[in-house]
Amino acid sequence: MANILLVLNAGSSSIKFSAYDADTDDLQLVTRGQVEGLFSAPRFAAYNARGEKSGEHAWRTGDTLEHADAIAHISAYLRGLGVGHRLKAVGHRVVHGGAQFTKPVIVTEHVLNELERLTPLAPLHQPHNLKPIHIIAQRHPDVPQVACFDTAFHATQPEVASAFALPESLTRRGVRRYGFHGLSYEYVSTQLPNLPNLPDGARGRTVVAHLGNGASLCALDAGRSIATTMGFTALDGLMMGTRCGNLDPGVLLYMIDELGMNAREIEDVLYRQSGLLGVSGLSGDMRTLIASEDSRARFAIELYVYRIAREAGSMIAALRGIDTLVFTAGVGENSADTRRRVCEQLAWCGIDFDEQANVARGPRISKDTSKVGVWIVPTDEELMIARHTRNLTSVTRG
Ligand code: AMP
Repeated sequence: MANILLVLNAGSSSIKFSAYDADTDDLQLVTRGQVEGLFSAPRFAAYNARGEKSGEHAWRTGDTLEHADAIAHISAYLRGLGVGHRLKAVGHRVVHGGAQFTKPVIVTEHVLNELERLTPLAPLHQPHNLKPIHIIAQRHPDVPQVACFDTAFHATQPEVASAFALPESLTRRGVRRYGFHGLSYEYVSTQLPNLPNLPDGARGRTVVAHLGNGASLCALDAGRSIATTMGFTALDGLMMGTRCGNLDPGVLLYMIDELGMNAREIEDVLYRQSGLLGVSGLSGDMRTLIASEDSRARFAIELYVYRIAREAGSMIAALRGIDTLVFTAGVGENSADTRRRVCEQLAWCGIDFDEQANVARGPRISKDTSKVGVWIVPTDEELMIARHTRNLTSVTRG
């Protein structure tokens, strides 16, 4: 059986995993899946490379699982496939690399300490991302681990794109725009040279719309990030499933002074009760809203599309034009309706939209004559992490 390269993406209540055959040049997927509902109703599911369910397990009601238990379950599942004992390296998604980590890095004790110190910049995510690194280090001290950051790809942003207009006392403490979804944008940028008939190849000006549960836009100049809509945290920019996106900071002062809300209450509103869910009062899931006749659901979609088109204008200005627009992630890859509406609002920049191709999922969804090429490019953040992990650990054949 193959040598395995494992990718882990841990959140507060779930761990997603992908296992790749390290002996194949293109890192073929062996299995992927997740343990969800860690501290409430834990359940495990795994899928083979064809996307067919290959394993599942639900724990008894009332059972709770720690991250360590979930990793033990994933290891046991891999061992059951005959691959667990050949674990060659583990790659992790880590949300924040700060100003210091602008590339993926092999984890050492020193690196881990430095990453712990970045927790105040991403308190909701960083501790959960780091937990599995500690667990694997204890269980498999000889297996190399690599941390890949959501922020790193945006290190190429010019200072003017990453700076806030704030006093130095704050910028000195790291208050600046970092940007997120970097692994997704990096993967998409590696796919750009494969797209046929691209007006200016990968050298052109591209706006990528990563529209998933979290959503952001990135301006790529010759494949490098020069601007993005997320900032200091993953709250800024576009309206998301449950996050508000761009917000006048004066609203926060009003919530504190007039509504008497504390930091945790405000955090809950901004991260979990806003976006599509907050505006529709119905759901943060685009599928539910598209299927709904409710006028608030319709307005939530209208606002979602309006925000994308308006922020895209700001990315296009940063690039001083646009050659290619790319849709990716859950909504971007699957919702023809959202893609059409965004492209209609962006027709001014030279998009000649092809509705037939859009419904047929492209991948090119603009007409041959369109000044701007519009594409659907499925993202694969896990594969990007696997590639980095292999490059850094030189996991080779045999
Ligand atoms: P992601 O975070 O990339 O997995 O994207 C998750 C989101 O994609 C979900 O919350 C859904 O709203 C959205 N999504 C998935 N499939 C569809 C679809 N067919 N139509 C509209 N939205 C979809």
